[in-house]
Amino acid sequence: MKNFFHPEDLERSDVEIFTAVGDELIRQEQHIELIASENFTSPAVLEAMGSVLTNKYAEGYSGRRYYGGCQHIDVVENLAIERAKMLFDAEHVNVQPHSGSQANTAVYVAVLKPGDTILTMSLENGGHLTHGHPKNISGMLYNVVHYGITGDTCRIDYDGMLEIAHKSQPKLVTIGASAYPRSIDFERVANIAHGCGALVMADIAHIAGLVAAGLHQNPVPFCDFVTTTTHKTLRGPRGGMIMCKQQFAKDIDAAIFPGTQGGPLMHIIAAKAVCFKEALSPIFKKYQQQTLANASHLAAELQALQLSIISGGTDNHLLLVDLRDSHPEISGKDAQCALEKVNITTNRNTVPNETRSPFQASGLRLGTPAVTSRGMGVSEMKQIANMIKLILDNVSNEKEFPAIREGVIELCAEFPLPYA
Ligand SMILES: *Cc1c(COP(=O)(O)O)cnc(C)c1O
Repeated sequence: MKNFFHPEDLERSDVEIFTAVGDELIRQEQHIELIASENFTSPAVLEAMGSVLTNKYAEGYSGRRYYGGCQHIDVVENLAIERAKMLFDAEHVNVQPHSGSQANTAVYVAVLKPGDTILTMSLENGGHLTHGHPKNISGMLYNVVHYGITGDTCRIDYDGMLEIAHKSQPKLVTIGASAYPRSIDFERVANIAHGCGALVMADIAHIAGLVAAGLHQNPVPFCDFVTTTTHKTLRGPRGGMIMCKQQFAKDIDAAIFPGTQGGPLMHIIAAKAVCFKEALSPIFKKYQQQTLANASHLAAELQALQLSIISGGTDNHLLLVDLRDSHPEISGKDAQCALEKVNITTNRNTVPNETRSPFQASGLRLGTPAVTSRGMGVSEMKQIANMIKLILDNVSNEKEFPAIREGVIELCAEFPLPYA
């Protein structure tokens, strides 16, 4: 029995949405996707997301739901939890967070009271909005102090973190970033936090796939809480997850439901389970190794073309180009817009000691998870670096753009998405 609708049903019932989705598929096919937080799921993950599980209310947890008819739902959620535990070696897992932001908020609700102090990395240094930005609920409810990165090496300033931790006596230290190209020493951060009586939350939203594949230090043994998204390097459905020590299991579960969410998205949880099964396979490790190789090659090729890479390279799936040295007249926004015109998708990013506004910015963030998923390797990274350099040298001279755009579309056609 088919458990999802045939694609043609959408075309018949809603041609406007059908057309927009089809146009988006063509955009994804014909663009080089370098946004570090994006990826292409497998067709199996997509199928689970489009399944009839979306019809089911399942408030509560496996075996103790507030609604009837949850016997198959329990199978799905139990599988997701067991696989996640295996993948990350976690004591307790909650797979219900609707997103990475929801996961982080639930940890705060579980362990903090309004006014408590949290020590986090600021957005300008590569952190995330949910780590205490004044416009995010984390910044509105809690007293936020920041650690940063060192001026010379652009690495996390662990010594500074230690000093600030002892001075400010936070209740919680958070570690994890959206725009940090280097490995993170979670063990060291956990020691700093625990040494001053604080709890520690590692947010591996970006690097979860690398951690799952054993290619980055796993924070789970060291940190009280580990949150993640499932849609970035992990290549699953758009969603979140919390892992924690057994002693916090009850508080975390209560902070998700009923603390901050209602019914779980069971179609998404099914897709998380599928993603975790894929991530447990040897092919997934090969994929993550290639993602790393592609990122370091892309960084090296850009450096060979005289572009500055913040921190001098990358240990993970992303890199940050500092345009101030090579192209001081171009903002990150200018660069992003010019690249978009030739079908290369990136996002602008602030750089350390930024002089422009975050809206303009002076850097570009480039990531390799998506291009690696479509099969591109190091020789394609060289081609992409050359195209980026050509565009940056000609942002106000669009004469070259159509030919480069054709080259991008040809390259993409050699590496089709798995959705034909
Ligand atoms: C992406 C990200 C999040 C938030 O994930 P959403 O699913 O977009 O809410 C949280 N923390 C970090 C470090 C991230 O990079």
